[in-house]
Amino acid sequence: MTRDGWLAAHPYLQPVADVHALVEAAAAEAFVPVAPIPNWEDYADDFRAGVPLLHSSNAAIDLGRLEDAVLSLIQKLTSPPLPRTLAEQCQILEAELRGVRAAPSVAEAGVPTWDSFSPTNPGLFRYVVWAVLVRFLSPVVSAFDGWRNEEHWLRNYCPTCGEAPAMAQLVGKDPGRLRKLSCGRCKTRWRYRRTGCPFCDAQDEHRLAVVAIEGEGGLRIDYCETCRGYLKTYDGEGSESLMLADWTSIHLDLIARNRGLKRLAASLYDL
Ligand SMILES: [Zn+2]
Ligand SMILES: [Zn+2]
Repeated sequence: MTRDGWLAAHPYLQPVADVHALVEAAAAEAFVPVAPIPNWEDYADDFRAGVPLLHSSNAAIDLGRLEDAVLSLIQKLTSPPLPRTLAEQCQILEAELRGVRAAPSVAEAGVPTWDSFSPTNPGLFRYVVWAVLVRFLSPVVSAFDGWRNEEHWLRNYCPTCGEAPAMAQLVGKDPGRLRKLSCGRCKTRWRYRRTGCPFCDAQDEHRLAVVAIEGEGGLRIDYCETCRGYLKTYDGEGSESLMLADWTSIHLDLIARNRGLKRLAASLYDL
C-alpha cells in the first residue's frame, strides 16, 4: 500500500496528511543534532531492571541539546504554507517559548521542556518536540534494536523513551506469530506477549476483543474488556512506515472513541 493509494481511499485524511508533510519538511530543514550511541554495557543493568534508555543516567542522552532545534522548527512553522490557524498557534507558541527560555531544563518523562512551561496549546508543542526527537534519536533507536534482547523486556512501555504504545503489529506466521508494540513518540517497535492487555493486569490467556474493519489494509482495533484501553493493530507486514504512522489511521481512533474506548498513549492529534 502506498501513501497516495491510502489517501485516495481515505480522502478525509488529506488535511492531516498535508500538515504532517509540511511539518516533516520543515523538520528536515531544521538543524537537529544526532544523539551519540550510548555505551550499552553501562546501560545493561538498567535495561534488565526495566528502565527505558532515555530515563537511565547510565545512558546519558542529553535532551537539553534539542532546545535550539525545537525553537528553530517552531519558527519555520510560523509562516505559510502551514494553514493559517496552525501558523498563528505556532506564533503564540514561539512567543511563549522565548518567554521561558531564560531557564532551560530537562524534565517530565525525558522530553525537553522548560521550567514551568505550560503552553496555550500543549498538543502542538508535543507534536513539534516529537518531530525533533525522532530525528535526534533515529540512530540510537536502530542501534538499540540491534543490541536489545527482546526476551528481557516484554514490558508495556517503550524501551527507548518510556511512552505507552500507540499501535501494535502482528508479524510472522503461526505458531511463531509475534505481537510488537509501536511507540508513537520515538518510533521504536518492541516485542510484547501475544495475548493479554498491555494497559492493565489482565494477562495470561486473556484475549483482547477485536473490532474488524473492512477494507482497511489489515488494520483493526484490539481492545480490553476489563480496562477499555484499545490498540490500533496492523495485522500485516511490508507497509509499516505507512500503517504504523498513527496519523494514517486517525479514523480508527474516532471509531474507538465512539465505542467508549480509551486511548492510553498520548495522541499527536490532540492539537
Ligand atoms: Zn518511544
Ligand atoms: Zn486492559
